[in-house]
Amino acid sequence: MKESPKKFFLRTYGCQMNELDSEVMAGILQKRGLERTEEESEADLLLYNTCWVRELAARKVMGKLGKLGTSPKKNAIIGVTGCMANAKGGKLFEKLPHLDFVLGTNNIQDLNAVLDEVLLGKQAVRVDPLFKEELDYEGAQRENGLKAYVSIIRGCDKFCTYCCVPYTRGKEVSRPAASIVSEVKKLAEQGFKEICLLGQNVNSYGKDQPEWNIRFHDLLCLLDQIPGIERIRFMTSHPVDITRELMEAIRDLPSVCEFVHFPLQAGSNRILKKMHRIYTKEQYFEKVALLREIVPDVHLGTDMIVGFPTETEEEFLETYEAMEEIEYSTAFLFAYSPRSGTPAKRWVDDVKEEVKEDRLHRLLRLHNRIVTKQRNQALGSSVEVLVDKVAKDPLYLRGRTRGWVQCIFPGDPSLIGTLQTIKIESFSHQTLIGTLQSCEFKSGAKGIPMFAGSSTSALPKICL
Ligand code: SF4
Repeated sequence: MKESPKKFFLRTYGCQMNELDSEVMAGILQKRGLERTEEESEADLLLYNTCWVRELAARKVMGKLGKLGTSPKKNAIIGVTGCMANAKGGKLFEKLPHLDFVLGTNNIQDLNAVLDEVLLGKQAVRVDPLFKEELDYEGAQRENGLKAYVSIIRGCDKFCTYCCVPYTRGKEVSRPAASIVSEVKKLAEQGFKEICLLGQNVNSYGKDQPEWNIRFHDLLCLLDQIPGIERIRFMTSHPVDITRELMEAIRDLPSVCEFVHFPLQAGSNRILKKMHRIYTKEQYFEKVALLREIVPDVHLGTDMIVGFPTETEEEFLETYEAMEEIEYSTAFLFAYSPRSGTPAKRWVDDVKEEVKEDRLHRLLRLHNRIVTKQRNQALGSSVEVLVDKVAKDPLYLRGRTRGWVQCIFPGDPSLIGTLQTIKIESFSHQTLIGTLQSCEFKSGAKGIPMFAGSSTSALPKICL
């Protein structure tokens, strides 16, 4: 029989959805009286909130869990949560008999019940295919007192052929708007300044509940009215569900930031069809043009996969040209790797690894050139930065622009949590480097607060 745990260790792998689920689980455990520790060796409850989207990440976690079976920690309670739990369920016990419980992404609210079962000497597994119950988001232990993730929809109905999410996280389930508004109001009261609305496809919000008569842009309007919330971001989007109404909301609502993650995935129509992305390159480009017409200063992000089964060099070049034409400010670029349980897993992974690597590197080099060009264009301009922390160099503060670009500048830590106007003087890799244009001290005096001895001459040289 295991003893009731006192301290828990929680490691998160993967995406922002998992980060938020971990914050909720940490809240549940702290309410139960457990103390969090960052030292695995001190804990008597070990939780691994896993990812199943990337082969390498999944393999690493399996290796880590396997080692626990032979380590002195095997007497601790060991639980696996997250997408790997959904994908593997009780089968995980066959390979890893020292695990105590497996808890799927749709069962976070069952954490206490599962722990109670384990304390009675059982191995417990809960992996429901559909998300049913509201989570205790208000009890979540947020990592940061300034920016918070807010879940608005769980699951995905799109079934891209390379992706395991619809099989691991289940169908789309929107969260009632009243519950979202109530959470965001409380976050504002606690001093949070920025929220990031989360979902596998936030633009689908409300589609599964037509009787609510509310869509994603309506939700943005409601949240924009909440005093204290300076910035609203959202991720991630499916191009098919990005509507004109959403574009107009980005233009018209002061707190909604001008950044859209607009994942193209591939530039060839044949590959897009094989991926089941349900849009053509032409339809995608038309939407980007409309968005740029409505929100001229919008920043765009993308995900792209190279080396999808049967992708030819010519088809890869269409992806390359799309990157060249659209000039994304942020890009997550991947070489294809098959995932268990997806339709694409059944196809021959016929693009050689060295060809995938070569295509990936060409695309990365192109993206680096685009970012350098954008950073050069930013020189001399002024940007609004929400200051979130002291930078690695303690003379500098760090924050992000509305377009989600990292920016550092010399300044006093009392500015953390405020919006500042920064004049861009140089950059290093992707980070903008600037100086405070002006700021108002709490006393009402205006000036540029800096540490004694710091000066703009300390700024790094422009890095080309
Ligand atoms: S839309 Fe995104 S989450 Fe949904 S299946 Fe496609 S890649 Fe996966």
